[in-house]
Amino acid sequence: MELACLDLEGVLVPEIWIAFAERTGIDELRATTRDIPDYDVLMRQRLRLLDEHKLRIGDIQEVIATLEPLPGAIDFVDWLRERFQVIILSDTFYEFSEPLMRQLKWPTLFCHRLVIDGEGRVVDYKLRQKDPKRASVQALHSLNYRVIAAGDSYNDTSMLGEADVGFLIHAPQNVIDEFPQFTPVNTLQELKAAFVGASNRNLSL
Ligand SMILES: [Mg+2]
Repeated sequence: MELACLDLEGVLVPEIWIAFAERTGIDELRATTRDIPDYDVLMRQRLRLLDEHKLRIGDIQEVIATLEPLPGAIDFVDWLRERFQVIILSDTFYEFSEPLMRQLKWPTLFCHRLVIDGEGRVVDYKLRQKDPKRASVQALHSLNYRVIAAGDSYNDTSMLGEADVGFLIHAPQNVIDEFPQFTPVNTLQELKAAFVGASNRNLSL
């Protein structure tokens, strides 16, 4: 029994906060953990900015709905789902990813939640658990699944390490250099071949 676990942002869809900042012109929303290493401080700033700009969840989803999955991503997910059970392991929020997940035809997604009040304001966020990507692969192993995983950045490396086989895709050179144990691929087309090669079944491209 084999499962495919994929990261979402940077693999199948653009970085949602950055794309959202570009669409709305709210420059401060471009900040990432590289600028503000404390994730809670970063998220509090994001929530404050959403509130200041009077962006409610419906407005936010309308903007995000104008974003598209990365080129080839819809086909890739279709292809993968014919060959593997697919689970997306992401650090995004269900409410944010919804418009993009609709375009990907709703593959299973394990991520986090935003807390929305009765008026649609985003008032808080809830992380599902600590180190969720690693914990998810461990849980899937406990169900006797073999796991092949792919991701693009630091927050994926514990998932890739826990998986039976892990690939980096679209990863920056510093991540590739720091984690030579994970084979890097550049395109979703190459990732198809990587999954076929890593499978213990006789799959075709
Ligand atoms: Mg990513």
